[in-house]
Amino acid sequence: MKIFKFGGASLQNYSRIQLVLDILQSTPHRPLVIVVSAMGKTTNALEKVVEYAYRQQQELAMQMLDDIVARHTEIIRELFPHEHDHLLQQMESYVGRIRNFLSHPCEKGYDACYDQVVSVGEIISSLIVSACLEHIGISHAWIDARLIIHTDACHREAELDWEKTRQAITEHLLPGLQQTGCVLTQGFIGSAPDGSTTTLGREGSDYTAAILAHVLEAESVTIWKDVPGLQNADPKLVSDTRTLPKISYREVIEMAYYGAQVIHPRTIQPLQQKNIPLWVKCFLDKQLPGTCIHHELPDEPLPPIMVWKKNQVWVEFTTRDFSFITEHRLSRLYDAFHRLHIKINLMQNGAISFSCCMDHHPEKLNNLIHDLQHDFDIQYHEGMELLTVRHPQNGWHQEMIRDYLIWIEQRSPNTLQLIIQQASQASIPVVPVH
Ligand code: ASP
Repeated sequence: MKIFKFGGASLQNYSRIQLVLDILQSTPHRPLVIVVSAMGKTTNALEKVVEYAYRQQQELAMQMLDDIVARHTEIIRELFPHEHDHLLQQMESYVGRIRNFLSHPCEKGYDACYDQVVSVGEIISSLIVSACLEHIGISHAWIDARLIIHTDACHREAELDWEKTRQAITEHLLPGLQQTGCVLTQGFIGSAPDGSTTTLGREGSDYTAAILAHVLEAESVTIWKDVPGLQNADPKLVSDTRTLPKISYREVIEMAYYGAQVIHPRTIQPLQQKNIPLWVKCFLDKQLPGTCIHHELPDEPLPPIMVWKKNQVWVEFTTRDFSFITEHRLSRLYDAFHRLHIKINLMQNGAISFSCCMDHHPEKLNNLIHDLQHDFDIQYHEGMELLTVRHPQNGWHQEMIRDYLIWIEQRSPNTLQLIIQQASQASIPVVPVH
């Protein structure tokens, strides 16, 4: 059994959908499970709908939703110039529920509301792909992922309930697979114990593919992207990137941990546990070899791999009475990070101060300051960037950071990390007022 996952970029317009269909038509392999994301940037647009609704800007929310529907309608009409009414009705029945939902204030809070609204992107996209498959004669079963992916109630970052999911897959997915040889479902979405929709975190469709592969003991997972495979740096930032032909699970986990947006960070573990290879292939040219992520290490040493995280903030905590940063104080700091769901990207401590780098979410930062300002003097620096180089080679990154000031440099045998700031934007620290 193989699992194919198609992301938003592969489904963003008529011609790309044709490429996806071509890949599926030329894949005789059965059983096959297909996992799809929302089309193009639909998830971002749906996020905006929720934001508007929450700011009581109902009109803007509805208008944004109408735009999303219009975009999908256009694609549906292009794909099916003659017979599109049924598909449009199906879409409208799901979108109608969202409209209803948005017209009443959501009592369950922002995150729960977000999941109910944003998930419609995946549903519509899968309905469109299903109609296309039917049209070209690929027999398959369409399954609502909320029937098979069971999670806790932690909306927007739901944790999987493996046992329930395993049972549901056996009960609902396997029969469809046995009957037709091919199942089509959505990534990213699942359901909470109360039946409400949950999501697995942005870009979570990769994780869905990995969950299904783990439970079904698939022979491989293929993620179809618009790049030739995994690159050793972001081609938007670095000119001479290389495609890595193979790479170990461990290395990809490290890359994801340091912020590479290659693959959803939770994807690797379920695959690693069952030793299932993960392929990253290019839907724009299916002949390209792509990257294979697996146990074995590559024959050749890896080139330097660069992960560049923008929009960071560097925060310094200093004890008020000149007392040392003891384990007791560190645990106070870590307790706050944990409670406020703040992930530390790099840290450093001295005798009386502790400093760390984190993604700059102003709201989370404010909460943190509020929580800790009685115990520490706090100041922070905005506009920071975190550059991580795995397997650094002499000077490889120097040219790229020519216009930057280096704030912090940390090195281990395999990893170099720098906190940098554009020289032109060097700023004075912000000291929050108590
Ligand atoms: N559509 C979701 C997102 O854009 C999930 C995914 O594409 O993996 O984050």
